[in-house]
Amino acid sequence: MKNVLVVISGPSGVGKGTIVNYLLERDAALIKSVSCTTRAPREGEQDGKDYFFISREEFLSRIRENDFLEYDEHFGNFYGTPRSFVERRLKEKSVVLEIDVVGALNAKRLMPERAVLIMVAPPSMEVLEERLFGRGSESEEERADRMRRVKYELEQAHLYDYVVVNESSDSSADKILQIIRKEKEKRI
Ligand code: 5GP
Repeated sequence: MKNVLVVISGPSGVGKGTIVNYLLERDAALIKSVSCTTRAPREGEQDGKDYFFISREEFLSRIRENDFLEYDEHFGNFYGTPRSFVERRLKEKSVVLEIDVVGALNAKRLMPERAVLIMVAPPSMEVLEERLFGRGSESEEERADRMRRVKYELEQAHLYDYVVVNESSDSSADKILQIIRKEKEKRI
């Protein structure tokens, strides 16, 4: 059995973060890779836990040194998966990445024999809209803009190995643990 690179994507508000926390709690043979980013920390985010917050200069120099397995730019900030962490930890554990569609496809291209791509989808667009805009502070335009992005991301689901519809974080985490078990068994 070989360890796998579990790549989890899904639109914002779908509940990926909670599912990933459940996965880590329930399976000690899993570890999450912490990405590097040049964006500023949001309130409550911790350096080294949510992200490694680094400067643009450091990010660019690490790109030159081939330090990232994959990286991408979102909204003017860089985000990247540290290569050495993933390669080192895969020797003992399966590694979870929580990244976007482009990053996921790059991970698959770079580690085709290890990457398992899982898209987390909402039970319905209405449920997701409620989760995203429940408090109702956004303008119509912002809402339409974010929902367009959600639709675009979900349209990429056919490129993934699995789609898990998130009815509850608990059951989604269980489904993903089963997928991981099955995928590890395939890789004798
Ligand atoms: P946020 O700033 O909201 O935390 O993340 C913005 C976007 O960056 C999300 O779509 C998230 O999945 C993506 N992201 C986070 N880390 C990485 C990474 O290491 N690589 C790539 N390609 N995308 C990432």
